[in-house]
Amino acid sequence: MKKQRRWLILGVALSVILSYAGGQTSTHTVEAARTVKTVFTISMENPASHCYQVTLGCQGLEGITQDFKMPVWSPGYYGLFDFAGNVRAFRAEDGQGNLLKWEKTGSSIWRVITDQAESIVLHYEVLAASQFVGQSYLGEDRGYILPASVCLYADDLIRRPVIVKINLNPLWSTIATGLDPVSAGEPQTFFAPDFDELYDSPILMGNLESLPPFEIQGVPHYFIGYKPGNFNRQLFMNELKAVVAAGISVIGEIPYRHYTFLGIGPGQGGIEHLNSAAVSFSGDGLDERPKRIGTLAFLAHEYFHNYNVKRNRPLALGPFDYSQPNLTNMLWVSEGFTVYYEYLLLSRAGLMTREEFMEAMSKIIASQENNPGRFFQSATQSSYNTWTQGPFGARRGGLRKTISYYDKGAILGFLLDLNIRQATQNYRSLDDVMRTLYYTFYKEKRRGFTDEEFRQVCENVAGCPLPEIFEYASTTKAIDYPKYLAYAGLELDKPRKLPDAYLGALVEDQTGRLVVAAVEPDSPAQKVGLMTSDEIKTVDGRQVKDLDFNQLISSKQPGDKIKLDLSRGDKNLEVEVILGHQLEKSFRLRTVSHPSPLQAEILKSLTGRQLPD
Ligand SMILES: [Zn+2]
Repeated sequence: MKKQRRWLILGVALSVILSYAGGQTSTHTVEAARTVKTVFTISMENPASHCYQVTLGCQGLEGITQDFKMPVWSPGYYGLFDFAGNVRAFRAEDGQGNLLKWEKTGSSIWRVITDQAESIVLHYEVLAASQFVGQSYLGEDRGYILPASVCLYADDLIRRPVIVKINLNPLWSTIATGLDPVSAGEPQTFFAPDFDELYDSPILMGNLESLPPFEIQGVPHYFIGYKPGNFNRQLFMNELKAVVAAGISVIGEIPYRHYTFLGIGPGQGGIEHLNSAAVSFSGDGLDERPKRIGTLAFLAHEYFHNYNVKRNRPLALGPFDYSQPNLTNMLWVSEGFTVYYEYLLLSRAGLMTREEFMEAMSKIIASQENNPGRFFQSATQSSYNTWTQGPFGARRGGLRKTISYYDKGAILGFLLDLNIRQATQNYRSLDDVMRTLYYTFYKEKRRGFTDEEFRQVCENVAGCPLPEIFEYASTTKAIDYPKYLAYAGLELDKPRKLPDAYLGALVEDQTGRLVVAAVEPDSPAQKVGLMTSDEIKTVDGRQVKDLDFNQLISSKQPGDKIKLDLSRGDKNLEVEVILGHQLEKSFRLRTVSHPSPLQAEILKSLTGRQLPD
């Protein structure tokens, strides 16, 4: 049995609402709290200074020295941050208050000479001036603690329970977090069974507003936000409930005792956590349907991550190593499939029409297919390189050679779903892949999956090998959209011929040489055998640079002939190319006029009870 419990702590003139724990939790947390030896106390003596005062008390660490470390990243955001650079006024003491010597032995490591001291107490401050979902913040109006950027760890502590006490600014009423409170007698005090859970549980503080909560299968779901804005709260939360319910029904069970959306204020971005999501949020304009649908899709994404990445996770993504990048090929599944599920969940919740679903997928296909990076980087590479190039691919000057695994992963999720449905006469789908991963790896094996295990699950569900889908993931091979879309009776709009000339070669300047960087399939350039790395010496006898080259092509007419002098290795070649027509590709999806019963069935069950068109 689970029951909802709210804490209401009355101060002189203020109430503190903590979020939250179910009935079973309190017994477990109180028991665990008795044995816990690591306690953080986080204070905010002068919020306007943007500085948290932190005390870490721990016992039972043996040895002459102890290394205390600040993580270099935080779960859910696959980029390196210099969190340690915000630490100030560090000092270490033993249990009697005697100062202990220390030194920095790395940019994020404080080595303390503990000399077998039974208790160690660290004091330090953390500057938190950045208003971003992936950084901590403290100001006069609110505080946001991203624990991985505030709480130091030691290797011998990281798998042990930890307590966090918050000395809340007395002018504020609320602490919201996914962490469980320890017990009714210790206000503003929270428990985590280990540092992984602590680092995956941000804490929002201030005079916050709780939107009308809802329960699903007796499990409470909250939305607690800083200045959420003007909108119809009940309508919004009713629709959010429908989205969350659609997410839960993919897997069939709820793996947490309570869930909280933390609205951290205006801005961009959200980060998923174990039983919470920190999201930039302004409700102004939410009563207009387009903004509401966009916001609900964003929240659906963060929510569905509680399954896809927090529980169904690649092996590299947990337990985490906080001292270095956690490299994985699989973010096209963890992030890309979660994008695909945004639109499935909204459709299944009855909030999106089939037309809108198809439009959303069209936009993602267009974004991928209009990106020259598709010729250079695979989905697995973009995942592996995300720590250096950023989540959406690098956008430096020159020819773009990176892609977004959000786009390509969403497309591959869509194609995989269609493939499985086609191969099983629509008896199985991507939902079965999600369920199998959840029950086999998260619940039974209690670990992440390897790249190969993921593929095996997909192929077992489909009942056949899926070489092409996985080739699309690991290479830059052009995607055969018509084949896969046809499984659901869908097709892409026919491309429209434009009056502009088309060659189909992407060129770039390589230290003064004009070099072919990629050749598009079925293009005039490919037909005459132009190849990657060919150097273009002259065009119609004239030397040109990369920008001039593109202008020169666009100044021609389809059907015009150009002569290229090329250098390939130690050979010189001359080719003549007849330019074709530039095509305008909308990538719009539409239904075929006479779908077969299986095509119609696949399309219908894909999006469930979507809003009628
Ligand atoms: Zn995501």
